[in-house]
Amino acid sequence: MKAAVVRAFDQPLAIEERPVPTPGPGQVLVKMETCGVCHTDIHAAHGDWPVKPTPPFIPGHEGVGIVTALGQGVRGLAEGERVAIPWLGYACGACEYCASGRETLCPNQEDSGYSVDGAYAEFALAEAAFVGRVPTGIDPMDAAPLTCAGVTTYKAVKVAGTRSSDLVAVFGIGGLGHLAVQYARIAGASVAAVDLVDSKLALARDLGAEYTVNALTQDPVEEIQALGGADQAIVLAVSPKACEQAFKSLKRGGKLVFVALPADNFVQIPIFETVLGGITVTGSIVGTRVDLVETFELHAQGRTRVVTEPRRLEEVNESFEQIEKGAVDARLVFDFRN
Ligand code: NAD
Ligand code: ZN
Ligand code: ZN
Repeated sequence: MKAAVVRAFDQPLAIEERPVPTPGPGQVLVKMETCGVCHTDIHAAHGDWPVKPTPPFIPGHEGVGIVTALGQGVRGLAEGERVAIPWLGYACGACEYCASGRETLCPNQEDSGYSVDGAYAEFALAEAAFVGRVPTGIDPMDAAPLTCAGVTTYKAVKVAGTRSSDLVAVFGIGGLGHLAVQYARIAGASVAAVDLVDSKLALARDLGAEYTVNALTQDPVEEIQALGGADQAIVLAVSPKACEQAFKSLKRGGKLVFVALPADNFVQIPIFETVLGGITVTGSIVGTRVDLVETFELHAQGRTRVVTEPRRLEEVNESFEQIEKGAVDARLVFDFRN
């Protein structure tokens, strides 16, 4: 099978021929149809984060495909079913986090395309208990971005606690952001979208954002404070500066939700204003299996729109460059079917 492999953090990915793997106990083999390119895959390939993957490895955690083989003891999944391989590749099921429905915090987790090989390949292995079932009627091109960008921002809006009268500031209208705008709108809120690229702001408006701010030419803090301040700000921009602006755009009692994971790992947030303003600062990491089911349900109901452009796996390095330049409308998706 063909796979895109990270050999070293300072080198482009290599397209390699690999043997098709055999599913172990509890695993399934998935013949990939599509896989989205999440900015996390770029961080993984560059070794951007404090906890690093070990090269060589195959990235990819927005994989969608058909189950073609079952390992020993797999129940509840059959060959021929369409499944999604999300970031949370495995959680132990026994720790306090798993036992309390917070499996994404499991300290014993495996992450697809990071600690275990992912979906930038014609075939991938996955733990049967952690794949998502893709409802019939959802196009595999749409299902791929929903598997991370969708579920992550669906969950971030839940974590934000957004209500219908709220103003939500969404910083970064990329793969994640174009879906975050829609989930905030579904929750009934008004949305102020912030990015550096006008075409992304036009897309945000198209998807329901009432207000847009280009942070290159306007001050997002001033603009959002002029609207009364945001009840919640969700940061999906790969930039500590955007995190600091998001904090300052909040109204009293507001909530800052960190989702983006820039290589530059620190922000400056003032204690005094946090305390006197009763501000909450929180992180949000992907979503649970139940969140993914709900994300797919909303899409099957026609309530979300996924904006994609197809790419071939061989175009992986150019794809990363385009995303880093902000030259992609929303999400690039590898299509393995042609
Ligand atoms: P993306 O590259 O598609 O989107 C990022 C967007 O931010 C782009 O539109 C870019 O123009 C914009 N941007 C950059 N700097 C900005 C600034 N200063 N102000 C405003 N906008 C700015 O990336 P993505 O795939 O949407 O991922 C975004 C981030 O979220 C990445 O760091 C990724 O690793 C992280 N992520 C986190 C989780 C999680 O569970 N917490 C899940 C998936 C991705
Ligand atoms: Zn992701
Ligand atoms: Zn656990």
